[in-house]
Amino acid sequence: MSGAGASNADAGTEQNAGDAERPEPQRWQIGDVNITSISESATPTSPRFLFDGVTKGGVLARAEAAPWLRPHFVSDDGYLLQRIHTCVISAGEHRIAVDTCVGNDKQRSNPLWHEQQGPFLDDMTAAGFPPESITHVVCTHLHVDHVGWNTCLGPDGDWVPTFPNAQYLFCAPEYDYWASHDDLFNDAVFDDSVAPIAAADRANMVEATDSICSEVSFQSTPGHTPGHLSVVISSGGKRGIITGDMAHVPMQLADPDLSSMFDTDPDEARRTRHEAFGDWADGETLVIGTHFGGPTAGIMVPHQGAYRLDCD
Ligand SMILES: [Zn+2]
Repeated sequence: MSGAGASNADAGTEQNAGDAERPEPQRWQIGDVNITSISESATPTSPRFLFDGVTKGGVLARAEAAPWLRPHFVSDDGYLLQRIHTCVISAGEHRIAVDTCVGNDKQRSNPLWHEQQGPFLDDMTAAGFPPESITHVVCTHLHVDHVGWNTCLGPDGDWVPTFPNAQYLFCAPEYDYWASHDDLFNDAVFDDSVAPIAAADRANMVEATDSICSEVSFQSTPGHTPGHLSVVISSGGKRGIITGDMAHVPMQLADPDLSSMFDTDPDEARRTRHEAFGDWADGETLVIGTHFGGPTAGIMVPHQGAYRLDCD
């Protein structure tokens, strides 16, 4: 999950809802495929929320050793610059929404997300993607900040699919796990944002080896959650990756061993990052972070025994 609400939970003095911004949409091109990012929020996050034992001073020390982290991903005072956004992949006739943020009207224990009332759907429409245009919804995993707009309040006050013409794709092991485990903060995330999709007969179970079309497929990246998927875009000899939360912040490129406190299996998450980063850091692949702030995306390259994201 994101740390966007975490800094609020972390000490209560370091962030409030007024800090949240909504960056303008960003667009990237991979061959014939366009990817548009629509942000729900962007907030500085205290590192203590995401990483056990990492202080803001510790973040600044890491940024001293990896200067490429500033200014895009680390603030001058040691906050991690993050966002929550949906990527819409336009591939042929497909309009594939990857991860659906926190959503509106949901009962959440995080004050920043509780009964949120944001203009996200208007922003999607303004960017060229009204809800009815979305053909597929993909959730990289089923944490609270990745499933929220799967549903919205219907006329009878029940939760209904937000995207009326979309197939919703869930990784089968991920769906099975969260169907029988409590959410991180004991909110009814599965009940209000996933189960209604199945009840509406819109849920499609996929495996990591499946693909949506010739340009869009999945990569298994478990550890953050049991069935976590990253999304792979291939077109015209080019490749792009949407990470999901197998890495929350670019600081983990500089230290792939750094697992977040929200990783279900920290050791598996470490192994996944080493393996995936080694694959992606070919100097050509565009890596789009699901919570990376600033430019959000860049070319990953090997650097000082780990990795770096080049964004310029
Ligand atoms: Zn997240």
